[in-house]
Amino acid sequence: MKDFTINHAISVELPSLFEGRHLINGNWCKSESGDTFERRSPSHGHIVSRSSRGGEAEANAAILAARTAFDSGVWSRVSGKERSAVLLKVADLIEQNVDRIAMIETLESGKPISQSRGEIEGAADLWRYAASLARSVHGDSHNSLGAEIMGVVLKEPIGVVSIITPWNFPFWILSQKLPFALAAGCTVVVKPSEMTPSTTVMLGELLIEAGIPAGVCNIVLGFGVPVGSVMSSHAEVDMISFTGSTAVGKTISAAASDTLKKVALELGGKNPQVIFPDANLEAASDAVVFGVYFNVGQCCNSSSRIIVHEDIAEKFCDRVVALSQRVRFGDPLDETTQVGAIVTPEHNTKIDTYVKQAQSDGARIALGGERLSVNGLGDQFYQPTVITHVAPDMPIAKDEVFGPVLSVLTFKTLDEAIALTNDSSYGLSAGVWSENVHTCLEFARRAETGTVWTNTWMDGFPEVAFGGVKQSGQGREIGRYGFEEFFEVKSVVMRVGNTRTPWVSQD
Ligand code: NAD
Repeated sequence: MKDFTINHAISVELPSLFEGRHLINGNWCKSESGDTFERRSPSHGHIVSRSSRGGEAEANAAILAARTAFDSGVWSRVSGKERSAVLLKVADLIEQNVDRIAMIETLESGKPISQSRGEIEGAADLWRYAASLARSVHGDSHNSLGAEIMGVVLKEPIGVVSIITPWNFPFWILSQKLPFALAAGCTVVVKPSEMTPSTTVMLGELLIEAGIPAGVCNIVLGFGVPVGSVMSSHAEVDMISFTGSTAVGKTISAAASDTLKKVALELGGKNPQVIFPDANLEAASDAVVFGVYFNVGQCCNSSSRIIVHEDIAEKFCDRVVALSQRVRFGDPLDETTQVGAIVTPEHNTKIDTYVKQAQSDGARIALGGERLSVNGLGDQFYQPTVITHVAPDMPIAKDEVFGPVLSVLTFKTLDEAIALTNDSSYGLSAGVWSENVHTCLEFARRAETGTVWTNTWMDGFPEVAFGGVKQSGQGREIGRYGFEEFFEVKSVVMRVGNTRTPWVSQD
């Protein structure tokens, strides 16, 4: 039997170099310094984009533009109907540009073209959902505080929001934040990852086309330091919405503390799927394979560990290995490819180091465990890898490996499965597979995670909040709860008639 299913390079005409600039106060501009940086495609090795490299000057100018636009009321004080109309137009424009955006997304990130297309189309739906929320903002009224008092609690946009995004789902994650911030009436400064800057620029072009006023959405291209750090510490920024690693999340939280900004963090995960003997094992094994290899495992929701009942562990692992061999790894531009390239050579080395460490710690490699060569594209790929005999204290069981690497742990009782699930500094998501509703409910209640999936994996909807507990983050994204993050609450207490009793004697 063949070991893996590999899609070797196909011949496709690649687009010409994408040149990205900053969007500041409605103008596309280069850096004051003239500096630029390039992104080389992890799969194809050619230079996909050249972007202006922002410094403190660009970050400060973008924040000033966002502050001025917010305070002017040009966006923050117009009706929800007007904001909604712009967001709907953006959704339409995204749909009209899916192929163009998806191509650059794939070349910068290394992910399969069919997946990029799905993400861009899904992002349009996020814009549409946020547009509906823009028209439904409301607070509370209090009409039972006594005959002399009426109170209202108003929702107001929080102000200027810094949005900092990672490279693994650049367009999708931006669309989990930006339309919701804009729907609330905030103004923003966006910094995409230095590895995947271009589709954020493309989205900026669509925003301009849709008629967003100057200064409402600003984009600064560049690196975490100095651009991201200025966006995290500047006094004129009211909130930071960040998705990325837990380590950088902590740096951002510390940088924001001096001015007590609101901080929303979507960070890493070490997400288990727990498989009971009474589960539909066919469906569970497919979900395990999907959970670990989707986006080459470079996914906050990657289900990088499974906790499987010891009575079925061996048979289940055999099934997972057999399915893994059928997943199509290789050229991201081939329509049939399911798993693409690793984001950088350094990251590929990091993944391999974890695997080799696990091996020397006593774990066994049931499949893979090496770099993968794809004819015509090189070896910035990694084999589908299944590791058994993993002990809970091994780094491979605890750390976010961020690669196509599955760790297998076993359990005997429900309590043990829950203890292993919660034995993590992370708390993003977890899944349970059982045909017994009581097992699923018990697990769902006791798992210390922001999301629990029962008999499924990674199903998500714009309506349903997403986020983590413990060191997977704070705050929520998407859904009504995600929308609420972008508001301040103001209480207005009103006296009816001249009924106030004087505090100081008037005699
Ligand atoms: P990263 O933390 O290295 O970088 C994320 C962003 O932060 C980039 O734009 C980077 O330039 C910027 N940055 C770096 N240093 C900074 C600093 N000092 N101040 C401000 N900004 C700074 O993360 P990454 O490698 O791009 O993405 C992978 C990580 O993201 C993984 O840990 C993954 O789990 C996490 N992630 C989480 C979610 C979620 O929703 N929970 C989703 C996707 C990715």
